[in-house]
Amino acid sequence: MKKIYVNELNNYIDKEIEFSGFIDTIRDKKWVMFVILRDSTGKVQMTIEKSEEQNKELLEIMNDITVESTVKITGKLTKNEAVKLGGIELIPTKIEVTSKALNLPFDYNNLEGVNIDTRLDYRWIDLRNEKNMLIRQIESTMVQAMREYLYQNDFTEIHTPKLIGAASESGSEVFEVKYFDRKAYLAQSPQFYKQMAMAAGMSKIFEVAPAFRAENSNTNRHATEFTSFDLEFSYIDSYEDVMDLEEDLLIAGLSKVKEKYGEKIKEVFDKEVIIPTKPFPRIKLKDLYQELHERYDFEIPTEDIGDMNAEAEKLTYKFALEKYNSEFIFIVGYAATKRPFYHMRNEDGVLQGYDLIWRGTEITSGAQREHRYDELVKNANEKGLKEDVKFYLEFFKYGCPPHGGFAIGIDRLTMLLLGLTIKNAQFIFRGPNRLDP
Ligand code: ATP
Repeated sequence: MKKIYVNELNNYIDKEIEFSGFIDTIRDKKWVMFVILRDSTGKVQMTIEKSEEQNKELLEIMNDITVESTVKITGKLTKNEAVKLGGIELIPTKIEVTSKALNLPFDYNNLEGVNIDTRLDYRWIDLRNEKNMLIRQIESTMVQAMREYLYQNDFTEIHTPKLIGAASESGSEVFEVKYFDRKAYLAQSPQFYKQMAMAAGMSKIFEVAPAFRAENSNTNRHATEFTSFDLEFSYIDSYEDVMDLEEDLLIAGLSKVKEKYGEKIKEVFDKEVIIPTKPFPRIKLKDLYQELHERYDFEIPTEDIGDMNAEAEKLTYKFALEKYNSEFIFIVGYAATKRPFYHMRNEDGVLQGYDLIWRGTEITSGAQREHRYDELVKNANEKGLKEDVKFYLEFFKYGCPPHGGFAIGIDRLTMLLLGLTIKNAQFIFRGPNRLDP
């Protein structure tokens, strides 16, 4: 018999079925034992009448069992209006214990007061919490809808290497790994390989994969490993084409999430899923500085001039709501010195790239890339990177169309959508002090 899930049970009323799952709760009454069983789709009640002779053996098994153990039940599914859980109950004829659980380190149904690090130490138990289960389903829906949007628009999903031979790309810190008798590095992004696909003539590609950053910082939005939703496409005229595509992609993702989980997100996370309208507001960095100064008396610190910092991002959200009634805002006009060498600059040296801020946090960097070999070499030299990126520069010697792309941090997307920190949003968080489990 195949495993039947809780959300399929209505098709099996009055039938003999096999049901496998966790023991969620046991309510042991004088005449009857109610056992709530759980799988990833919901819960169902199993009822064992104590007076019935044939149940003696079943009760012996149940008396010895702990909650959170897993079982395989054979029994009949019957309708019973008195049962709160869907008006159905499972009357067992056989109970097999497939694994017995020890006492849990904490009550995952009531996580208030449980330290986040304890929760992460036992993440597989923490994830049994309904809310945590929901986070995973919502994220999966978002990514699925974004993928589907790209498939419909003739993008090809690719898989680039995460072990790479040269360290430097954009200045972020990289993890070094031993690679036989030499050094290798964990990819901080698929940037070079996305562009290699452009040089190969692939036109439209994307990848959803891990990115590694050796950033020794403990913020609520940085992880040392995160999932990057990356894409790149050719034959663009400007980075505006890249922003346009990103708008459509996010609208597709958020629309699906709202349709499927909008109500639930409001109820459980107290967050409204707002579908943005096109075009998202776009502002030049220097105009934004002025707005933030005039409205909130904010001055960007000298070391961050030409760029943003966390406080500026927070205030930018406030500004975007006030001025444009938008949760999203594109910022353009970053200083070339603050951005990777592969971002294109126009003839006046103005960077052809952008960041997208959502609810006060950066979720994306995007740009038109420099595809002209001589310009790229010049930009790389300027950043003192020529040797490190020698292999990459070769991609542009044999013909490469104008192109651009962006990277969205999936963990940040989930975190901002549901109002979480990154530790809660990631399936398994990786940070400077967290490498297990
Ligand atoms: P930040 O300034 O917030 O550190 P970044 O400028 O280093 O980000 P990019 O290199 O532009 O980020 O990466 C593209 C996207 O990847 C970011 O917009 C963000 O969504 C995500 N991202 C980058 N670094 C991290 C990280 N350490 N943890 C989680 N997501 C990240």
